[in-house]
Amino acid sequence: MKDCIFCKIINKEIPNDKIIYEDEYALAFLDIDPLNVGHTLIIPKKHFETIDEMSPEEFSKLSKAITLVSKGIMKLSDGLNLLQNNKKIGGQVIPHVHFHLVPRYKGDGHRPEWIRKHDISEEQSKEFLDKIKSFLK
Ligand code: 5GP
Ligand code: ZN
Repeated sequence: MKDCIFCKIINKEIPNDKIIYEDEYALAFLDIDPLNVGHTLIIPKKHFETIDEMSPEEFSKLSKAITLVSKGIMKLSDGLNLLQNNKKIGGQVIPHVHFHLVPRYKGDGHRPEWIRKHDISEEQSKEFLDKIKSFLK
């Protein structure tokens, strides 16, 4: 997609010397502003803005890159957070689907989880459950 910075990285219009893995469907490279050493982004080579635009087939094409890079990161770290943000409210800045693989190191000072807990009532959960099921048929 024109004007998409990640598409430009895929098409080599923007040089990137921190590519760690590439296959027919996916590209993995270090984040320019890393949250920890080795913070990696994995993106589909095909442009999708948010994850719900992807079919199961397109999504599964990323599984090799994600699992392979995860194996490498886990050898070099103590843990790993896999994150994927959608829309501004979800923290998405770049509108091309990407998975953050953030290596975690003992004593790195980050919280174990990035989204803080809210008190959710049983009623709220039930209402959500009823609605989501109707969308998944
Ligand atoms: P988001 O907030 O959209 O989930 O994450 C976007 C990520 O892309 C951020 O962590 C940001 O540092 C990273 N990023 C933005 N532009 C570039 C770039 O040109 N090159 C690389 N390697 N990472 C980028
Ligand atoms: Zn794109």
